[in-house]
Amino acid sequence: MLRLYTNDACLLHQPGPSHPESPARLRAILQALDHHRFTQVERIDAGPADDEQLLRVHGPAQLARIRAAASESESRGTTVSLDADTMLGRGSLDAALCAAGAVVAAVDAILRGECRRAFCAVRPPGHHATPNEPMGFCLFNNIAIGAAHALIKHQVERVAILDFDVHHGNGTQDYVAREPRAIYLSSHQSPLYPGSGKLDAPPNVFNAPLPPGSDGRALRDAWTLHLLPHLETFRPQILLVSAGFDAHRLDPLADLNLDDADYAWLGTEIAATADRLCRGRVVSVLEGGYSLSALARAVPAYLTPQLVD
Ligand SMILES: [Zn+2]
Repeated sequence: MLRLYTNDACLLHQPGPSHPESPARLRAILQALDHHRFTQVERIDAGPADDEQLLRVHGPAQLARIRAAASESESRGTTVSLDADTMLGRGSLDAALCAAGAVVAAVDAILRGECRRAFCAVRPPGHHATPNEPMGFCLFNNIAIGAAHALIKHQVERVAILDFDVHHGNGTQDYVAREPRAIYLSSHQSPLYPGSGKLDAPPNVFNAPLPPGSDGRALRDAWTLHLLPHLETFRPQILLVSAGFDAHRLDPLADLNLDDADYAWLGTEIAATADRLCRGRVVSVLEGGYSLSALARAVPAYLTPQLVD
């Protein structure tokens, strides 16, 4: 059965009134999941990640920088900018710690056999945060922290990270490039922020850049022909999915043209792949997606195929 990992602390991250990464995104998703098909989904309010879990991915200087910015925000009562579009306000540190903690808790539950699928409805997102730098709305790399937890705490030998957010997960690629027990598969628009994600990549990274204007056909071909086949040879023991919904045609930040049915297709293919290769184990983690109406439809479309157990 599918489990939902979230925490109300994730609603307290306020990057600013006109910032697209708003608490309304998470509210829209949670309201949509209240739909009758998800009433049987168990909700878990996960606690914060601890330093040991964070330091498996991030350098101590990065933690110190984020904690100092959080203190500054607290004392000044304003948001603090870490870069041009990455803001930290009073509730941001707790939100970021609980976002990473949700992924850790979901990995624990799945590897203990308590459930086979989990969705982490969390923010801020994570896949742009590198081992040494917060960036692109992201403070900690939630999915990389989950991967490191599976590899180190649970001594899993092979973890696959799949990423269908419209932006390339440069931070996740940086983590995986130095972790031979993981592979990273990503479809994304190119050119687009952050400018990484070209075909020329580290040996355990497989990128499928899509030109602006690409539709669901192009995305399905990318996954079917170029990305998913790598899982057959790698034989992962768990799939971690950076589930961003900003490749939707309604999204204001990018120019791909996916529709709800394409997210249902992704959910179906990923679930079937996990069933075949790794006992159905899938942890999906919210990344981007900035159209509230697209989120309210595409997230349930993606998760519905994962309800089947
Ligand atoms: Zn994105």
